[in-house]
Amino acid sequence: MQHHPGRPDGLFPLEDLLPPETDRLSADTASFRDSPAAARMLDVREIHAEPEAAASARGREIIARFPRARVVEVPSHWRIPGLHGDRGSAARWVRVKTETLVLGVRKTFTVRPNGRSADWIAPGPSNGCAMACAYCYVPRRKGYANPITVFTNTDRIIDRLGRHVAAQGRKPAPNQCDPDAWVYDIGENGDCSVDALVCDSTADLVAAFRRWPTAKASFATKFVNPDLLAYDPRGRTRIRLSLMPTEDSRLLDIRTSPVAERISAAGDFLEAGYEVHFNLSPVVVRPGWEEAWAGLLRELDDVLPPAVKAQAAAEVIMLTHNRGLHEVNLGWHPRAEEVLWRPELQETKVSEGGSRNVRYRSGAKGAAVDRLRELIAAHAPWLRVRYAF
Ligand code: SF4
Repeated sequence: MQHHPGRPDGLFPLEDLLPPETDRLSADTASFRDSPAAARMLDVREIHAEPEAAASARGREIIARFPRARVVEVPSHWRIPGLHGDRGSAARWVRVKTETLVLGVRKTFTVRPNGRSADWIAPGPSNGCAMACAYCYVPRRKGYANPITVFTNTDRIIDRLGRHVAAQGRKPAPNQCDPDAWVYDIGENGDCSVDALVCDSTADLVAAFRRWPTAKASFATKFVNPDLLAYDPRGRTRIRLSLMPTEDSRLLDIRTSPVAERISAAGDFLEAGYEVHFNLSPVVVRPGWEEAWAGLLRELDDVLPPAVKAQAAAEVIMLTHNRGLHEVNLGWHPRAEEVLWRPELQETKVSEGGSRNVRYRSGAKGAAVDRLRELIAAHAPWLRVRYAF
């Protein structure tokens, strides 16, 4: 098991930063969701619930799954004092993510065009995450602790997607997202593999896409959840395993499954009926980054089964960062900021949503993307790059 370094000042007990151990991947054994390993990721003690969400069938099911949790009624999943926008929570970030769950009802069902990770961004079944990657953009949008918010009306999301898929008809021409299917990203603001520890929303979406021959679900993940092997996706869901060199991951990917575990899960997921792609992100430019990525690519070449390589593709995304997140991280994980916050290499960019992010300066960024493409061509030539930016 990989050990993530904790705060140098020891504010979190080390065991809070360790990923749960998955003993072995098998869909035959009892549900991973109910295992002690899963409880280390999610040990819910407090559920903040909108009344309508708590009263729904899905909400009641979730509340029954966590009998030790105190249920607190909240008027809106967006405004929870002490959880969102509370800088004081940064010091308890990981604990809040482990012990708190929010239940809400999704009110908007916009399907947004994308064209990079997927053709469309679906209205997701959740928002927030129990993991704590230092570079994650999700907390930039929803306060600091940002535990998982589950939307209990997955049925309405599926309804909306069904109508959208029907309205598109067949995909008229291949593109980098997929040669035939319209690809819908169902996990833009969280991690569907961890959501599957809470309830069946991920299973429901996988089942829905199984029925839609012109479409495919897709989500990136950093967590190996063996329960997903039993979902029977029949090729209509693409898992994008997020990878970065182990030494970066140890520093930055707090609470995720170790990179080696993600890589060794690829064959099992393919066999279980998923399409398996790789999300090589974020690429962090730091001394030694090229050697580290070459090492990761060589490892992929050495250990992946031929069947995985034959269908694999990758997206490459360079790190973006944000001053607000930088300041929050300084309060709980300053070592991460030594590699993430590099003003001499970075420039400010105003994002689509209006926030001021930083990214690598355009010349340096283009050179790094080119270098990574060269490394892929040299060490993992079977790996098609869907896009890199
Ligand atoms: S797994 Fe994804 S959503 Fe969760 S903290 Fe990491 S980057 Fe954010």
